[in-house]
Amino acid sequence: MSNAYNYRILPQRKRIAMVAHDHKKVDLIEWAWFNRQVLSRHELFATGTTGKLLEEKLDRPVRKLMSGPLGGDQQIGSMIAVGDLDILIFFWDPMEAQPHDTDIKALLRLAAVWNVPMACDRATADFMLTSPLMHETYECKVPDYSQYLKRHVPE
Ligand code: PGA
Repeated sequence: MSNAYNYRILPQRKRIAMVAHDHKKVDLIEWAWFNRQVLSRHELFATGTTGKLLEEKLDRPVRKLMSGPLGGDQQIGSMIAVGDLDILIFFWDPMEAQPHDTDIKALLRLAAVWNVPMACDRATADFMLTSPLMHETYECKVPDYSQYLKRHVPE
């Protein structure tokens, strides 16, 4: 891999995706309620069940994807890959195996591939949401994958 970079601009109004596993849903909903004012300046997306709970609690629209184990994590991953999301808040449960463990790993990987700011616990989410960068446009450095795309593939 080369050390070249491209830039992706994260807008002032960010597209935030939220996912919480079942034992983390209370945590995420509480966190979102506490931070509802900051979140009101951004656009919210979520996996199906998380999104429904967020919508009820925050009384505002949330773009709901499929439920995580039914494809929602993969939908979020594909939106990250095409640049349709700016931030990922993913409260995954480290104490319980999930039926869609492979999808979770894929989502975490894609967020890292595209250098998408990602918080996997409440403390990191607090630091992220209180960053001044939440309210500014941000030049996000993304590795330049063009060399990879031009690589020699053995015939
Ligand atoms: P859910 O999905 O919000 O539909 O419960 C979360 C998950 O990925 O488990």
